[in-house]
Amino acid sequence: MDYLPADSRYKSMLYNRVGASGIRLPAISLGLWHNFGDVDVFQNGRTIARRAFDLGITHFDLANNYGPSPGSAEENFGALMRKDFHPFRDEMIISSKAGYLMWPGPYGEWGSRKYLVASCDQSLKRMGLPCVDIFYSHRFDPETPLEETMGALDFIVRSGRALYAGISSYNPEQTARAAKLLRELGTPCLIHQPKYNMFDRGIENGLTATLEKEKIGCIVFSPLAQGLLTNKYLNGIPEDSRAAKHTSLDPDSITHDKVEKVKKLNDIAKARHQSLAQMAVAWTLRNKVVTSSLIGASKVAHVEEAVAALNNLSFSASELAAIEAALK
Ligand code: NDP
Repeated sequence: MDYLPADSRYKSMLYNRVGASGIRLPAISLGLWHNFGDVDVFQNGRTIARRAFDLGITHFDLANNYGPSPGSAEENFGALMRKDFHPFRDEMIISSKAGYLMWPGPYGEWGSRKYLVASCDQSLKRMGLPCVDIFYSHRFDPETPLEETMGALDFIVRSGRALYAGISSYNPEQTARAAKLLRELGTPCLIHQPKYNMFDRGIENGLTATLEKEKIGCIVFSPLAQGLLTNKYLNGIPEDSRAAKHTSLDPDSITHDKVEKVKKLNDIAKARHQSLAQMAVAWTLRNKVVTSSLIGASKVAHVEEAVAALNNLSFSASELAAIEAALK
């Protein structure tokens, strides 16, 4: 059956302006790092993506290496574009990235022009798209001149492979330099994609101030700390969880101390009439620099739960203080 998106899809989602640019992103975006690879059930990913779009999530975030196997999330997303989303392409913001290891040899990772342009072409081919909306340098390369990496992003935009340029996991100083170079090239840096959640607050030490000054948007990844900031691990490690799969979430990182903190946070969320996942998403969005909270989901219910977080985004001073105390 052809997919027909819900008529109500723009009724309740919030759309926040990305820095000083012309576009807005949904307050909640969906990332395809996990659960969309060729090891996963295609139909599950398809149901998640459809539901996300039905709920007003217009932004889907990918990278060359998402899977596993690397590249397979983009291939599966390409299939979703062909089967379901093709008529709605102009309602969507699709991003991809290059920076991590993608193919063997000296040209398969980091930040050279050779790698970024070739990887972007491969991503477009896998997704069956003429261009993406945002193309990111996935990580800062200490050995390639930043002029070359930013020059490659500028070229990728000017040659029509992407509409906007972004950077991910650059520190404040690297961000300021990248922003200056891109501005001089005439392709402003649209957005930065750093990690941010209650357990990982590194961006508060300078990056958010830089982004505000440079008028760059901010989409934060892993707002749920890969599932830790939900009720999932309160009573051990469930079999079907990311931690049990020994992929990116090390089960040893789920210590007794962490779980005790999660229990306290869970109580605070309950008092707000929210789930912990919802409070965790809302907490990232309370930071005025954050444009969008970029979630992952292994089930449709995860997307629905995250979107329902928008029903209560405000925090009282005492709630914020209780969260700080729980995190001590
Ligand atoms: P989250 O912190 O949102 O973690 C998502 C995972 O948490 C889900 O896959 C699921 O795991 C679990 N979960 C989600 N909702 C719930 C819920 N309501 N109840 C219980 N468990 C839940 O984000 P990710 O770490 O997945 O990252 C999101 C996106 O950010 C990625 O897809 C990618 O696009 C981007 N990213 C970018 C990086 C970069 O370097 N730029 C690095 C990492 C991510 P489970 O499988 O256990 O059910």
